Amino acid sequence: MYRCLVFIIKVIEMEVKLLRVTGEGVELVATAAKTSDSSLMRSAKEIVELIVDNDYSSALEHIYFTFDIEGISVALSRELLEHRIASHTARSTRYNEEQGFGFYIPEGLKGDAEAIYRGAMKSANDTYARLRKLGVPREYARYVLPMALHTHYVVTMNVRSLINFFMLRLCVRASPEIRELAKCMYKLCVREYPTIFAHIWCRGYTLGVCPENMVRPANCPFKGIIPTKRVLKREFESEARRLIEHELKTS
Ligand SMILES: Cc1cc2nc3c(=O)[nH]c(=O)nc-3n(C[C@H](O)[C@H](O)[C@H](O)COP(=O)(O)OP(=O)(O)OC[C@H]3O[C@@H](n4cnc5c(N)ncnc54)[C@H](O)[C@@H]3O)c2cc1C
Repeated sequence: MYRCLVFIIKVIEMEVKLLRVTGEGVELVATAAKTSDSSLMRSAKEIVELIVDNDYSSALEHIYFTFDIEGISVALSRELLEHRIASHTARSTRYNEEQGFGFYIPEGLKGDAEAIYRGAMKSANDTYARLRKLGVPREYARYVLPMALHTHYVVTMNVRSLINFFMLRLCVRASPEIRELAKCMYKLCVREYPTIFAHIWCRGYTLGVCPENMVRPANCPFKGIIPTKRVLKREFESEARRLIEHELKTS
């Protein structure tokens, strides 16, 4: 009876909100760029486009985005934390009670597989609840919680770091959950600053060449229109190498 009461399946969709963004960022970045080069006689929009196009990205670090992210798994939060050029805050499993937790269900799980998966979540929840009932502190009981456990996250990134994040995580090779998060964040970013983000997607699109080479998956939408680095490099490598050797010899 106790077990039935505590296990409420929470089906929470991922929810991403923009908490804060630097205002008038295009003008701010242009002002910074003009500090570097006072002869820049272009509009703020043109300067920012030049910066994005030529990858003079340090000026983009003046614009910050803060996102409030709910309904993501702890597994995803670990991937997010790998992005070091950011400020991260996550819900604590020491300070918060996790009985009846929400959890991520991968889209590909259907039928028996989904039933087994849900059973494992219920079992983890039951174990957690039993430990808590015995008086076990949250900081011990939390070790039985699964990677699928939903967490709440606040992350702040500057635009340069966000571009790096999108280039890596909008790629079809990124795991499905973080790719979904990246798309949600991208929509908020492109709405705020289309001048910058309309030129950004995965590494292949942004750079015009895909570094994934042999591991580029079949479902990549740009296969056939964006070359891989290896293919492109093969065309110029020997001649370019010859020029490098010449420069090394003559310097
Ligand atoms: C498809 C995919 C698969 C992955 N698989 C794995 C995996 O199996 N295991 C795993 O551990 N990670 C994995 N990762 C994570 C990956 O290795 C990076 O840790 C993560 O993408 C963060 O990228 P980043 O280092 O560019 O970002 P950030 O940490 O935000 O760094 C941004 C940039 O700053 C610079 N920088 C940051 N720190 C340093 C430093 N110490 N020294 C020099 N330059 C620095 C680099 O130019 C870096 O690109 C995977 C990522 C992707 C997209």
